[in-house]
Amino acid sequence: MWSFREWRKQRTLARHPVDPEVWQRVRERLPMLDGLSAEEDRSLLDSCVLFLQAKHLTALEGVELDEESRLFLAAQAQLPLLALGDLNWYQGFHEIILYGDDFISPQRHRDASGVEHEWDGEHSGEAWSQGPVILAWPGVLASGGWEAYNLVIHELAHKLDMLNGEANGLPPLHPDMRISEWASAMQSAYDDLNRQLDANPDAETVIDPYAAENPAEFFAVMSEYFFSGPDLLVEAYPEVYRQLKAFYRQDPLARLTAFQRGTLGRDAGLSGST
Ligand SMILES: [Zn+2]
Repeated sequence: MWSFREWRKQRTLARHPVDPEVWQRVRERLPMLDGLSAEEDRSLLDSCVLFLQAKHLTALEGVELDEESRLFLAAQAQLPLLALGDLNWYQGFHEIILYGDDFISPQRHRDASGVEHEWDGEHSGEAWSQGPVILAWPGVLASGGWEAYNLVIHELAHKLDMLNGEANGLPPLHPDMRISEWASAMQSAYDDLNRQLDANPDAETVIDPYAAENPAEFFAVMSEYFFSGPDLLVEAYPEVYRQLKAFYRQDPLARLTAFQRGTLGRDAGLSGST
């Protein structure tokens, strides 16, 4: 059906075409997108263009933003929304601030998050939920693979969580989901992780111990695992995977499995030919 909204969308897309070679380079830097269908790929690219028109990226000292890096960030931001329809899920903020701070490995994620969350904590709940997203650029660059780490998805999961009030690990669920099932899956996994860490603070848990901080961090970290380490999440907490699959309406484990099969097939082909 014709609508002003759709017309504006199409006009924005027509005015901001993306060079297919640039998009291809972005895709190559984001293994987590492997397994998307051609239609999903097209839809993701469109939503990236719209996202970059709607949000202002503020690059602080040490961050150089070109079209490719803007798309690299946008694609990670938009992946969680890919199957969620046209609703404005990232509402209430207009700016993403990118710090050039050193942020070398995923293990330092906790330190950087600590600093960032302190900053959040100085603001009131409302100002906080209406505030910008802040990301350390090296953390963004370290994201995008299947390493169960994704700074962009983590921080934006907090934004989804805040759509219905303060961040508490319960984003607005779809009508076909039950809060009781969500709460039960999340709580028992959260309790399990905390039990392991209480028994041994240095335990080698499948899930990053940072998830045990509080229910809001648990949801954000689970969202990271869902999109970038779905095999690990299914191994540790299959019920959490099931709930996130219903929430995000995607099945990253199927993508990862298809991707691995393809890789194995190619490797087998290569070894067969040598
Ligand atoms: Zn967090």
